[in-house]
Amino acid sequence: TAALALAEYRGPGATRDGHPVQVLANVQDGAGARGAAAAAAEGVGLLRTELAFFGRTEEPSVSDQVEIYAGVLAAFPDGKVVVRTLDAGSDKPLPFATPPDEANPALGVRGLRTARRDPGMLVRQLDAIAQAARETGTSPWVMAPMVATVTEAAEFAAQVRERGLTPGVMVEVPSVAVLADRFLEHLDFLSIGTNDLSQYTLAADRLSADLADLTDPWQPALLALVAATAAAGQRVGKPVGVCGEAAADPLLACVLVGMGISSLSCATPSIAGVGARLATVDLAACQRAAEAALTAADPQSARTAAREALAGS
Ligand code: PEP
Ligand code: MG
Repeated sequence: TAALALAEYRGPGATRDGHPVQVLANVQDGAGARGAAAAAAEGVGLLRTELAFFGRTEEPSVSDQVEIYAGVLAAFPDGKVVVRTLDAGSDKPLPFATPPDEANPALGVRGLRTARRDPGMLVRQLDAIAQAARETGTSPWVMAPMVATVTEAAEFAAQVRERGLTPGVMVEVPSVAVLADRFLEHLDFLSIGTNDLSQYTLAADRLSADLADLTDPWQPALLALVAATAAAGQRVGKPVGVCGEAAADPLLACVLVGMGISSLSCATPSIAGVGARLATVDLAACQRAAEAALTAADPQSARTAAREALAGS
């Protein structure tokens, strides 16, 4: 029956008892967005714009950028699209945006920090997103990656609001989860990037196969930061989503929903599995699974505890 449910997932996402959960896609271009729409995604939870900048020796022109962003926005004329500003640096270096020889690039000038060197590039990107929104008659949300301080978030939010768009930031650095309430005073939403949040919480390179046990998204410390962020969002009625790999795991998706996460964004092939699993569980069972996972001693027992908590539902 699981295979049947998977084949039949049509969205919108919801638990069995009708608690809505947006199931969104991570994409990088218009073709990807159209594929996601065909796979019943309700929108785009993460547009990785830096992919439009790759393979280039110079920053793409505003009109090139408008065309790319409009292609994505047009795929979801009525759905949510979250555009992420340039996430260059670390494992995604760009010759014109990031310094060439950092000793610790994952801790260096990446994501929003590239705007310290070249504020104009962020301005042009925000202008291009705003123009693409006008051309398609849509209202995208816009978020910055690799934010660490409330001041950075407030300044970014002001630039986004100036253009009539909806601002948020990614939760990738533990400082944002720790002070989520204060970040939310300036922002309309948060989106947790569990790939980087686990890297920075456990101090383990996300690309290291030797350390994969540390960057496991079921690590209790990561789950605790996700739960704290979700709770901060619920206190003020602002959405908190997850757009890292954690959102692609159907069991973990139930746990995240139990914590109060309101949207899950994953690669298109994972959408049906996540949506179909959510449709088999009640919100109360997700909440029990979240409690069980949060009190487990290690990733493996967190998985087992969550599975058991959901089994009876
Ligand atoms: C993340 O860090 O979880 C994320 C979604 O961003 P990226 O994988 O592109 O760094
Ligand atoms: Mg990231």
